[in-house]
Amino acid sequence: MLNIGSHLSSAKGFLNLGKDALKIDANTFQFFLRNPRGTRAKALNQEDIDSLRNFMMEHHFGPIVAHAPYTLNACSSNAHTRELAQEMFHDDLAIMKHLPGNYYNFHPGSHLGQDKDTAISFISSMLNKELKPGQPTMVLLETMAGKGTEIGRTFQELREIIDQVDLQEHIGICFDACHLSDFGYDIVHNLDGILDEFDRIIGLGYLHAFHINDSQNPPGSHKDRHALIGNGYIGLETIVQIINHPLLRHLTFILETPADLDGHAGEIRLLRSLFQD
Ligand SMILES: [Zn+2]
Repeated sequence: MLNIGSHLSSAKGFLNLGKDALKIDANTFQFFLRNPRGTRAKALNQEDIDSLRNFMMEHHFGPIVAHAPYTLNACSSNAHTRELAQEMFHDDLAIMKHLPGNYYNFHPGSHLGQDKDTAISFISSMLNKELKPGQPTMVLLETMAGKGTEIGRTFQELREIIDQVDLQEHIGICFDACHLSDFGYDIVHNLDGILDEFDRIIGLGYLHAFHINDSQNPPGSHKDRHALIGNGYIGLETIVQIINHPLLRHLTFILETPADLDGHAGEIRLLRSLFQD
């Protein structure tokens, strides 16, 4: 069974997200808990959130992915921005408690010219303040394309974050095909080598989710411009290799391609047809 869905932004409320996912033959989805530019979290409607939980069980959904707002920067050089990041992180995880067993994915952040080690220690220290023993949500660090001053471009940087976290069992990694390639991990020609490197530095057991995007730019461009599946420098062949790979096929795959619900329905149909059961 291929666990695949897309980032959904259209639906209002939790249950409607599940319904939109089902409409496009997805059994997972990604969503924002608040405006992606980071305003207040949506008011929590307990009945709505419980309905989504029941709906997901009824329709055999895999784990879903809540995505942190893009403005969350845990390693900013500005103390107020860091406090705000921790607040958003805290509030989001409080909502996710009502949806146990799922993922919360966040971008490690941008160091904005500070020393890299300082930036990394800011990220780990937020995680140490907010991760609690027995918490029901797995927090994912996303691999980044390396635009601007992004942290988390290399497996080594992600490893350094994890190394300083106390409750490492609540931390995982989310790959993004476009980010990996744009940073310079050549997944088209060396997927096995890259997985090998990841396993050596972090460990494949940490890998839970995969943003399955094509890229508008060649490897190493540091751009982060997602393309439709098969319409970019990664190409359909590599994407099909990824979803069928024995070390990856069990992951939660999320499309963040520049398509609407119908477009994502087509991409899901295509990838399901190319998944070897
Ligand atoms: Zn992301």
